[in-house]
Amino acid sequence: MKKNNILYVVVPCYNEEEVLEETTKQLKLKLTSLIKTKKISSKSKVMYVNDGSKDKTWELIKQIHSKEELFTGITLSRNRGHQNALLAGLMTAKNYADLIISMDADLQDDINAMDEMIDKYHAGYEIVYGVRSARKTDTWFKRVTAEGFYKFMQLMGVEVVYNHADYRLTSKRVLDNFADFKEVNLFLRGMFPLVGFKSTKVYYERHERFAGESKYPLKKMLNFAWDGITSFSVKPIRLVLNLGVLIFGISIIMLLYSLIVKLVGKAVEGWTFIVCSIWLVSGIQMLSIGIVGEYIGKIYNETKQRPRYIISENLEDLTNDKKY
Ligand code: UDP
Ligand code: MG
Repeated sequence: MKKNNILYVVVPCYNEEEVLEETTKQLKLKLTSLIKTKKISSKSKVMYVNDGSKDKTWELIKQIHSKEELFTGITLSRNRGHQNALLAGLMTAKNYADLIISMDADLQDDINAMDEMIDKYHAGYEIVYGVRSARKTDTWFKRVTAEGFYKFMQLMGVEVVYNHADYRLTSKRVLDNFADFKEVNLFLRGMFPLVGFKSTKVYYERHERFAGESKYPLKKMLNFAWDGITSFSVKPIRLVLNLGVLIFGISIIMLLYSLIVKLVGKAVEGWTFIVCSIWLVSGIQMLSIGIVGEYIGKIYNETKQRPRYIISENLEDLTNDKKY
């Protein structure tokens, strides 16, 4: 991979007026040093994405843009949430850049990890996941809930990189292919592994939020986890089906049991009939819901219209690296 590539750092911002100045200062230092050491081109920029903030965030971004040529920005027509804002930034930035790094505005992601990410890019990796090595600064509650989140996701069959949020480097080529994932319910950190290409991880320590409050309270985090699972996995449907099979199995055992009780002559009048019907009917119901669910699962996967494959190299035609 050739050096002197254009880097765009995409930073979604929602009501971040308190941190923007410091973030700008630190990113400016980082980009200047990266440009000086010729790791990236001097055309590189930071792209702030204002996600319909209610405070002065957008005014600040415009001010920064007019003073600093290393900074630019886009604004969304209203608040659309972190994942949509990030996607808007990535899809815009890929038109100008060769490599793109996404990070949060609050400086929780260690910007010094960027050097290593870019080195990995030069070594031929096209996706570099920033992974939190320690959560010393998070509260006990945040740490337990966040780590539980990743474990639960994996249990539910969603392929996520453990302890990786949205601090990552991607090549333009990855994002070009990513654009073909048309789904509306976004869970970016679960989608990138699906794109493929050579990927690796870079570890960093997560800092405390520089200022302001988390925009991801527990309720939003739970919603996000639920979204992640329901957008990625049909495992919950499978669980219903399995439960149906189980209950149906138990109903057969109950049937035999109550017949034996009846034959031995210990059953109260009508008991056998009621017990057998309850188990059999609920077993059949659960099983049917599971079967219907399987079809819904198929429909749901079809409606996403995800690319079925992505070709990374073609020895015949090197300019056309994508076909369906
Ligand atoms: N964010 C956003 N739109 C939202 C909520 C958050 O663009 O609706 C941005 C926010 O400005 C920050 C990033 O997403 O840059 C991560 O949010 P936050 O730091 O509050 O989450 P946490 O780190 O607490 O999980
Ligand atoms: Mg944060």
